[in-house]
Amino acid sequence: MDKKTDIRLLSKDVIKDSIQQLGEAGFRAKQIYEWLWKKKATDFDQMTNLSLSLREKLKEHFVIHGITTDKEQFSNDGTIKTRFKLHDGALIESVLIPVKKDNRFTVCVSSQVGCSLACTFCATGKMKRMRNLDPGEIYDQVVKVNEQCLQYFDHPLTNVVYMGMGEPLLNYKNVLQSIHHLSSPEGLHMSAKRFTISTAGISKMIRKLADDESKVNLALSLHAADDEKRDKIMPINEQNDLESIMEALKYYYDVTKNRLSYEYIAFKGFNDTIEDANKLAKLCTKFPVRINIIEYNPIAGFDMIKSDVDTLDLFAQRLREKDIMVTVRRSRGKDIDAACGQLANKE
Ligand code: SF4
Repeated sequence: MDKKTDIRLLSKDVIKDSIQQLGEAGFRAKQIYEWLWKKKATDFDQMTNLSLSLREKLKEHFVIHGITTDKEQFSNDGTIKTRFKLHDGALIESVLIPVKKDNRFTVCVSSQVGCSLACTFCATGKMKRMRNLDPGEIYDQVVKVNEQCLQYFDHPLTNVVYMGMGEPLLNYKNVLQSIHHLSSPEGLHMSAKRFTISTAGISKMIRKLADDESKVNLALSLHAADDEKRDKIMPINEQNDLESIMEALKYYYDVTKNRLSYEYIAFKGFNDTIEDANKLAKLCTKFPVRINIIEYNPIAGFDMIKSDVDTLDLFAQRLREKDIMVTVRRSRGKDIDAACGQLANKE
C-alpha cells in the first residue's frame, strides 16, 4: 500500500509549506505546480528546472497518481471509446466523439467510478458507486483523449462534456477543481465556455453551481417530460421532481446566462408520442433551451427499445413547430460498447 501523498491533491500553498519543511525555497512550489497542471508532468524526473536533490525529496514524499489506458475500441463512425485504469485498479471510461464536418471534437469524461443514481436504462447505473474521481483523474482523461484526438484526427479537442460514468454534481468539488485545472491560465487554459456538465437533475446543486458563478454550460438528462414517467426510469426524480428542477434551471440561467440543454433519449412507445412532445414543449417556456434527442443505445437488462425513425421525426417536428431548437442525434459508436458504462462494466 502506497503511503505517499498524491501531490496533485495539494494546493499550491500546501505544496509550498511542504517543500519549505523539506528545506527548499518556497518559490519552487510555483514551478512544481506549473509542471503538474500546465505541462502535464506525470513523473518528478520530468521537472528538469528543479534540482536533482529536490526531485529526489519529492519522490521520497509524494507520488503523482496517473491513469493508464487499459483498452480502446474504435467505431466505424470515428468514435473512440477508451477504458482507463486508475491507480487503485478501478476502471472508468471516456469517449472521443469527432464531428469532422463541424470541426468539433468532444470528449465525454467520467466523474465517478460507478454511479449511485441507478437510472434503469444505463449500464453505469447497474454498478454501485464505488468512489469519486479526484480532479487529476478527470484532468488526465482530457489530456489522454486530446493526445488520441491529435493522433487520429490531427486536431485538438474542442469540447469537454461531463456525461460519462457518474453524476458530476455529486462529486461537485472535484469536478469544479478539474475544470479549474483545465481552463485556468495556470492550467491548460481551455475556454470554460467549451465545458458542459450533464446532470440527472440535483436541484440544490444546480443552484449552488449558479451561486458559485459557474461559466460552464449545463445539460439536464431529462428523458421524460412528466414526473410519473421520469420516476419510472430515473429514481432520483422522486426527491428532485420536475418542478424543483425547472426552478433550479431557471435560477441557473437568470444568474449565469450560460447555455442550457435537455438530453432526451427516445424510447419506443414510452416517451415518444405527440402528447410527450407537447409536454416537453411546456418545459421549454421559462428559459432558452435546446433539446438533443438521442437514439437509445441498448444495454442488457432493460427491455425498452429505441423509437423508430418516423415517430422520432414527427416528435421533433412538433417541437420545431413551437420554435424550439431540436437536434436529433443518431447514436454514436453502435458497433462498440459506447453506451455509458458498458465497457467498464464488462470486467
Ligand atoms: S445515466 Fe448518468 S446519472 Fe443515471 S445512472 Fe447512468 S451515469 Fe448515473
